[in-house]
Amino acid sequence: MANYMLMSKLYAPTLKETPNDADIESHKLLTRGAFLRKTSSGIYTFLPLGQMVLHRIEKIIREVMNASGAQEILMPALQPAEVWKESGRWDDYGPELMRLVDRHDHMYCLGPTHEEIVTALIKNELNSYKQLPCNLYQIQTKFRDEIRPRFGLLRGREFIMKDAYSFHSSQESLQETYDEMSKAYAIFCNRCGLNWRAVEADSGQIGGKVTTEFMALANSGEAELVHCDCGYAANVEAADCISEAKSYDVDHMEKVYTPGVHTIAELAEFLHIEENQTCKALSGKSENGDVFVLFVPGDHEVNEIKAAHVVPGFEILTDEEMEELGLPKGSMGPVNLPEGVKVIADNSLKSIDRWVVGANEDNYHFVGAKQGVDFEVYDWADLCVTKPGDKCPNCGKTLIGDRGIEVSQVFQLGTKYSEAMKAFYLDEDGKQQPFIMGCYGIGVTRTLAAIVEQHYDENGIKWPISVAPAHICVLAIGKEDYVLEAASKIAEDCAWAGFDVVLDDRAERPGVKFADADLIGWPLQIIVGKKGLEKGEIEFKVRANNRRGTIPAGSISEKLAEANIAFRNIKNGADDIFSSF
Ligand code: ATP
Ligand code: MG
Repeated sequence: MANYMLMSKLYAPTLKETPNDADIESHKLLTRGAFLRKTSSGIYTFLPLGQMVLHRIEKIIREVMNASGAQEILMPALQPAEVWKESGRWDDYGPELMRLVDRHDHMYCLGPTHEEIVTALIKNELNSYKQLPCNLYQIQTKFRDEIRPRFGLLRGREFIMKDAYSFHSSQESLQETYDEMSKAYAIFCNRCGLNWRAVEADSGQIGGKVTTEFMALANSGEAELVHCDCGYAANVEAADCISEAKSYDVDHMEKVYTPGVHTIAELAEFLHIEENQTCKALSGKSENGDVFVLFVPGDHEVNEIKAAHVVPGFEILTDEEMEELGLPKGSMGPVNLPEGVKVIADNSLKSIDRWVVGANEDNYHFVGAKQGVDFEVYDWADLCVTKPGDKCPNCGKTLIGDRGIEVSQVFQLGTKYSEAMKAFYLDEDGKQQPFIMGCYGIGVTRTLAAIVEQHYDENGIKWPISVAPAHICVLAIGKEDYVLEAASKIAEDCAWAGFDVVLDDRAERPGVKFADADLIGWPLQIIVGKKGLEKGEIEFKVRANNRRGTIPAGSISEKLAEANIAFRNIKNGADDIFSSF
């Protein structure tokens, strides 16, 4: 028999009013529906209903992870500073790392992630290539002192993550596990009922495409992505950009007085040209202090992450730094730059004969500036932020824009941690080698919120069957004992048919029960009332599509049996298993 709960006993204080500080739908509905309470900024308590959904999500995670050969462990949240100092991240992680001191003045942190702990764990115990590959995971609370905790569970300071770490003796073996994990994540997203895309992301490493983010599509998502019918999808920061620049047809460079022209749009209008006939500039410095000005076609933005691939440690110059160097804030251009300042330009500008650029002087631009004649370009690179409407780098069709919530990410770490922490194994020739590592994270609490962001209407949540706190709510509508008896009999039938069920046996008005059932979002409502019982009928409502109807009271077992078969065959967690009703 599946779970059978009584609404009268359930601690589920639903709210009529929307909490003031809830900024997105999932946060509002999870609070009103009694899944969640905010304890402090970015810190939450899960009420019984919330905990039930978390358990469902975690169960799916365990199934897909175990099936892929990963093994579950549990590491501490409280981590000694020493291992973080060994990896170098005690200094590199910055203020997001929650640090604390114990009574003996030893420093600790609350783990934002576990590369250090897991590497220290296997070091000296995982010794031989024969023991590899090895993939360990945990489901655990993480701490990050986010600068802006917001959007409820989407960006918390304390949150639950599934994190896995794999160890390998070759790149091929890492790739195999990485692909296996990507497959597991795809299944996980489907089983949670998410509409998602696997997107190419930026690894922060030069040239490497060694990380994929799994994005739940939602307008509330913080990530911008582009995707194409051909299957290509990428974070706008990481997507290769096929930008198109156009030449300005003149045969020599000319200085033009452009009073009051500040933006690219104003410049294009002033000169009666298109925005991609102009250039946008951004100045920055490298980690050794070399100064560069980067140029992209005027209709695109400079991508700081891509900039860091050509200018190591790229940082935008502050106003003071620009002033000191004699760089103007507006109207920056490649002609007559201060001594030592180098030009890097987007690949698309390479074939452009004559550029329209700032004159490094307020209210002036040069039109028809020619590279190699009027100025020199030090280096060329893809420097643009890709945008919807650009050409797909894979097939050339037009890219579509979307917003997404990053629910998970897979990452090839290489030997960064094993080298820093001296974690070695012996290879076939008995030689010491650093482990090649991968890491794979799923935001468990973020996934819960992302599911709600994709499954709700004005009345509440519509849980996919796979993660709903219970599958069916039987509502007893009427004060008479025989109504409650009939309803409880049906609820039992549901439980015997394999469905987790809740019986709304409260002495509440029908309106309250209906509103709560919609708000909480049980996938199927079975409504048992006096009138229906007299006619031998039972009402139902499928929450996913709000389809209502009646069935003969005698057919309930048969309908439940059919739903059970549909349940066992679902492809996507949000599939409607109650279509037989
Ligand atoms: P973001 O870019 O959104 O800050 P991240 O890339 O730093 O996330 P990872 O280190 O890749 O996050 O962590 C793995 C997963 O943990 C993420 O994909 C996300 O689902 C989840 N996660 C990360 N930060 C938070 C947070 N502050 N609150 C809730 N979940 C989070
Ligand atoms: Mg990430």
